[in-house]
Amino acid sequence: MQRIPVPTRRREELVDITSTVEKAVGKTGILSGLCVLYCPHTTAAITVNEGADPAVAEDMVMGLRRLIPRDWDFSHMEGNSDAHLKASLIGPSETIIVDGGKLVLGTWQRVFFCEFDGPRSRVFLMKVLGA
Ligand code: ZN
Repeated sequence: MQRIPVPTRRREELVDITSTVEKAVGKTGILSGLCVLYCPHTTAAITVNEGADPAVAEDMVMGLRRLIPRDWDFSHMEGNSDAHLKASLIGPSETIIVDGGKLVLGTWQRVFFCEFDGPRSRVFLMKVLGA
């Protein structure tokens, strides 16, 4: 298993981690299998979506902000319940097929680390299973 750092710069942002994941997959030497990515944080998540137009990632942040406003009457005293909800809505992990030592993604797809309560020093976990 690899622990890979992801520094985030804003309270909410989608960080494209595709190249980082691809390099880490390359280092394992595994050519065929599954790449499991896992976010070990309660206010961040991992997703796969469009990366060709960076506006999509910004729109996702804006859309989630409208779906789950920060100023709702939450009970959690940390004041970041909106981030907890967003993290669970997106989910903590993705599993991506590895073929020829590379991630198998659609033409427009990229892998994103989703920050909902930054900026922070984050990590994600990666395990490649050969098959
Ligand atoms: Zn909290």
